[in-house]
Amino acid sequence: MSEKYVYLFEEGTKEMKELLGGKGANLAEMTKVGLPVPKGFTISTKACTDYYANGKVVTSQMQEQIDSALKKLEDATGKCLGDNNNPLLISVRSGSVFSMPGMMDTVLNLGLNDQTVEVLAGLTQNPRFAYDSYRRFIQMFSDVVLGIEHYNFEQVIEEVKSKKSVTDDTQLNGEDWKSVVAEYKKIVQTKLKKPFPQDPKQQLQMAIMAVFESWNNQRAIVYRRINKIPDELGTAVNIQMMVFGNLGEDSGTGVAFTRNPSTGEAKLYGEFLMNAQGEDVVAGIRTPKSISSLQEINPGIYQQFAGIAEQLEQHYRDMQDIEFTIERGALYLLQTRNGKRTAQASVKIAVSLVKEGIIDKEAALMRVDPEALDQLLHPRIDPAKKLAIIAKGLPSSPGAATGKIVFSADDAEKMGQQGEKVILVRPETTPEDIHGMVAAAGILTSRGGMTSHAAVVARGMGKPCITGCEALKIDLKRKEIQLSGGQILKELDIISIDGSTGNVLLGEVLLIDPELSAEFLELLSWADQIKKLGVLANADNPEDAEKAREFGATGIGLCRTEHMFMAADRIPIVQEMILAEDIEERQTALAKLLPMQQSDFLGILKAMAGFPVTIRLLDPPLHEFLPNIEELLVDITKMRYEGANLGEIRQKEDLLRKVRNLSEFNPMLGHRGCRLGITFPEIYAMQAEAIFMATIELQRQGITAAPEIMIPLVGHLNELKLMRELVDQTAKRVKQETQEDFSYSVGTMIEVPRAALTADKIAEQADFFSFGTNDLTQTTFGYSRDDAEGKFLHYYVDHKILPENPFIAIDQEGVGRLIELGVKLGREKKPHLKIGICGEHGGEKSSIEFCYRTGFNYVSCSPYRVPIARLAAAQAAVINKDQSK
Ligand code: PEP
Ligand code: MG
Repeated sequence: MSEKYVYLFEEGTKEMKELLGGKGANLAEMTKVGLPVPKGFTISTKACTDYYANGKVVTSQMQEQIDSALKKLEDATGKCLGDNNNPLLISVRSGSVFSMPGMMDTVLNLGLNDQTVEVLAGLTQNPRFAYDSYRRFIQMFSDVVLGIEHYNFEQVIEEVKSKKSVTDDTQLNGEDWKSVVAEYKKIVQTKLKKPFPQDPKQQLQMAIMAVFESWNNQRAIVYRRINKIPDELGTAVNIQMMVFGNLGEDSGTGVAFTRNPSTGEAKLYGEFLMNAQGEDVVAGIRTPKSISSLQEINPGIYQQFAGIAEQLEQHYRDMQDIEFTIERGALYLLQTRNGKRTAQASVKIAVSLVKEGIIDKEAALMRVDPEALDQLLHPRIDPAKKLAIIAKGLPSSPGAATGKIVFSADDAEKMGQQGEKVILVRPETTPEDIHGMVAAAGILTSRGGMTSHAAVVARGMGKPCITGCEALKIDLKRKEIQLSGGQILKELDIISIDGSTGNVLLGEVLLIDPELSAEFLELLSWADQIKKLGVLANADNPEDAEKAREFGATGIGLCRTEHMFMAADRIPIVQEMILAEDIEERQTALAKLLPMQQSDFLGILKAMAGFPVTIRLLDPPLHEFLPNIEELLVDITKMRYEGANLGEIRQKEDLLRKVRNLSEFNPMLGHRGCRLGITFPEIYAMQAEAIFMATIELQRQGITAAPEIMIPLVGHLNELKLMRELVDQTAKRVKQETQEDFSYSVGTMIEVPRAALTADKIAEQADFFSFGTNDLTQTTFGYSRDDAEGKFLHYYVDHKILPENPFIAIDQEGVGRLIELGVKLGREKKPHLKIGICGEHGGEKSSIEFCYRTGFNYVSCSPYRVPIARLAAAQAAVINKDQSK
C-alpha cells in the first residue's frame, strides 16, 4: 500500500502528533473544532524520515501528494500559487513531535516574485506592504534556503533609512522597500551567481527540502541532545495560507499564554504588535505591548480571543501557548500548544487545574517534571536585603544568579567549561546562542519581551533570565555596558540578576534558602498519598538532617561518617589515629574522637527522632586524611637546603615514610570500606560505641532513636560476618556497662558486583541492603568515578556510545541487572529484607522508577532532592498502575 505523506488540516487530529508534528496536529485539531485557522496542509514526519532514508530525495510519490494538496488549497482559497490575478501566498513551517522553539526553519510570504508582488500591491492598494513582504521573503528564503545569512542584508535598510534621514522602518514607503528589494536581489545574484528564484513552485520545493534539512542543523541537534529528543523523529512541514498582520493599523500579530507561564496565575498573559508580522514579536526587535491592552485597542477581537483561549485550555486540559494574527480586523489562529512554563508555574497550574475540576490528582502529578522542581529548591536573593539595583528589566525566568559578565555565547561556553559562573549579556539572543545559554548561570538581554527567544529558552532550561532591560546600552565591540547614569560595566565585572523581579544588581549577592509554596506542598502531599517508596536523605550533619525533614524525608538512608572526620579540628586527631605505631597509641586517639562522634550522632538522631537513621562506618582510604606526598618532599628538601635541625628533618622523613606506606596505586579499589574495619577493628568499635551511647542518651531524654549500622564495601560474606560480630560485641559491652537496653540493626551496602552476585549469602548476616550505586557503577563498568566524567564519558554520551551518563541514571542494562539479581537473591533468603538505594541515583527520576519496579522499600538522596524524589516516586506508582491495568 502506498504511504500517505500529506494531510489537509481537515484530515488530522491532535492525536496524530507523531505523524503531523505538534504544530500540524494542533492546527488540524483547531480546524476540526471550528476555530478560525487559515487553510493548509501538513507533510508528515514520515516524509522527512523517508527523505533522509532515500538519500535526501523528495520522491515522486511525495511530490504528487504535495501537488494534489496544493491544488485543494488553491481551490479552497480561490487563490493560485504564482497567479497573476489572485496569487496565493503561503508559509512553510517546521513542526516536530516535541516543540523545539526557534530551532528549525520557517519561510513566510512564499509565492512572491517580481510579478505577484505587483498584483499584491494592487489588490491591497498597499505597495508599501507588498514590497515590505517581498523583501522579508527574499531575506528569509535566502537565509533558510539559499544559505545567505541575514547579516548580508541588514546594511541595506540602514542605508536607505539614512539616505532618507529616518530612523524607523515604518517611515519607509513602497518605493523605498522596492529599492531594498532590488538591492537584495543583487546580493543574491552576487553571492550565488544566479538570480533569486522566481518560480513559486520551485520556491516551494526548495523551501520544503530546506525545512527537512533544518532538522539536522547544528542548533536543532544541540537542542535535541539537551532535551533528550530522539534524532530519528524528523520534522513535519506545514504549508498554510498566509494571513497578514502587517496590512495596517487594523492588523497585528501576537503570542499569548492562557495562564502566566512564569507564576502560573490564571490570567491571559502575552504580547502583541499592531502592523507587524509574527517574527517581529518573537525576535524581540520591537518591544511588544501586553495582551491586556488589546482590550482597549480592539475590544471585540480581545473578547473573541479570550473566549477561544479558554475554549482551547478546556479542550487540551492544559495551559496553552497560542499564536494569532489579526488581518484587517479578522482574528486567525496560527498555532496552539501546551505552553512551556517555569517550575513554579507548572506546580501552580497543575494544582489549579485539579481544583477547577479539569484534571484529577494523578494527572496533576504526572504534569510536573520532577527535575524541574530543582529550580524551586535552590537559594534566591534575600528580599529583605537592600541592594544596589543598577537596572530593571522584565522578570522572564525566576531564580537568582551571580557571575562575571560575558558578551558572547562562545565566551560563556569557554568560561563555563573552566568552572566560572558567568552571566551572558546580549542585546537579544538567537538560537545560535544556545550553547552559551547552557553554560551561563543567568541571561540578561537589553531587548525583547517575555516571549522573546532568551525568555522562552531560559525558562525551559530553568535559568534565571531578565529580558528587555533597556536601560543597558550594550557595546559588543568594546565589550562594555553603559548604564543610564553613565556608569560603565566591563567584561568580567561581577553582577547578579534576579529573574523573579527583573532586578540587575552590582556585585555578588547573598542567596537564601527557598520556601515551598502552598501549591508545592499540596502537590507533594498528593504524591505521598500515592507513592509506595519511602524517600530518605543522605545527610551527615544535624543541619542537613533538619533540611531533609523539612523537605519531607522520612529518615536518613546514608550518613557518611568519614565526612564527620574531615573537620579542621579533627584532622590532627584522625592523623594521630592513622599514624599510631601500636594499638595503644591508636586507642588514645580514638578515645579523643569518641565524644566528638557521639555528639554528631546525637544531633542527627535527634533531628530524625523516631525515623530510621542509617549510619555507615568509616569508608574512605586512610591516606586521604594525610598530608600530600609531594608537599612533604618539597618541605624536606627545603629544610635540608636551609640547614634545618636534624631532629625535625627526621621527624618529617618519618612522616613521609608512613604516608608512603599508606599510599596506594589504586585507592578506590584499595584499603577502604570494611577492609579498613577488619584491619583496624578498634575504629569501627569506637564508632559503634559512639552510636550506641548517643542512642542511650536520647532514650534517657525520652526521644526514640533508631540507628541502623551499615558496613560498607562488603564483597564476601565473611567480611560482613566479622564486622557484625564486632558491632554486636560492642553493643553487648555498652549494654552491660550502662545497664541500658536499646535496639539497632546491622546491614550492608551492596556496592561491588560480588556482593550482588552472592546476595543470598550476604543476606544471612544483613538486616538490610542499601545499594551503593556510585561504587557499583564504578566497579561494574570498571570506570573510575573520579576520572571518567572529566575524561571520556561526555564523549561517550555525545557520540551515543552510551545512551546516558551511568553515574547520573542507573545503567539498567548492566548495573540494573546486577541490582535485580541482588534483590532477588537477597529476598529469596530473607523475604522481608529491607532494601534501599543511597548512591546519587536515589534522587533521579528513571532510577527511582527502576527501584520501584524492582521492589525497593526506599530511595535515599541529597536533602535538596527529596521533593524531586517524592514526586518521582509518585509518578513511578502512577505509571506502573497504568501499565498493570
Ligand atoms: C555509593 O558508592 O554509591 C555510595 C553511596 O557510597 P559513596 O558514594 O560514599 O562511595
Ligand atoms: Mg561507595
